[in-house]
Amino acid sequence: MPITTPDLADAFRLFGERLAEERDALTRLDQAIGDGDHGINMDRGFQAVLGSLPTFLDDGPGALCKQVGMRLISTVGGASGPLYGTFFLRMGTAMGTAEKLEPVELVAALRAGLEGVIQRGKAVPDDKTMVDAMRPAIEALEVSVGGDWQEALASAACAARQGRDRVTPLVARKGRASYLGERSTGHQDPGATSTTILFESLHDALATIS
Ligand code: ADP
Ligand code: MG
Repeated sequence: MPITTPDLADAFRLFGERLAEERDALTRLDQAIGDGDHGINMDRGFQAVLGSLPTFLDDGPGALCKQVGMRLISTVGGASGPLYGTFFLRMGTAMGTAEKLEPVELVAALRAGLEGVIQRGKAVPDDKTMVDAMRPAIEALEVSVGGDWQEALASAACAARQGRDRVTPLVARKGRASYLGERSTGHQDPGATSTTILFESLHDALATIS
């Protein structure tokens, strides 16, 4: 079964609800190696997204993703607003005007989103950023999207968690955490943590549709 605009809206709703639940935990992670605003930033952005979500549903999934991206860019400061904003904008562009998406098309859009984040933030693997959770999650989807969709989404969420945890011992080389140098080691990256919540939300919202 293809993925529709309401399906994708469910995923955004779930992600927004979980960001609200995890707001303080994300902020604590960012207090350790940043400026302590990641939970606040993400929650503010997604409260704005959720508030406008009903007005984003008139067109296809691509238009929905673009509106989400634009809303994040206009409401979230810091590094994560423009990066997540770019991610969803690029996804929307990749989806075009299709009314529904096959899973393989959603995965291609996620890949386009990742490329946008990399282009904008210039993070390479092991810089200890959101990219270290995002890239393995999307790679897991790319290798498994031809098979069972539920398993593919589960493998993506698992790969995101592993990527998030894999870089915890590393030194951060991008964003505010990089100012700490060696002192950033041993701390879990806030952005990789919110990205993991995104892929867990995609699994929980979309696993049952096909
Ligand atoms: P800020 O660092 O401006 O306070 P946030 O606290 O909201 O913004 O987000 C911090 C997160 O953004 C980091 O944990 C990291 O995952 C991510 N990040 C920072 N810089 C980059 C970058 N250049 N590329 C990718 N992700 C980045
Ligand atoms: Mg911060």
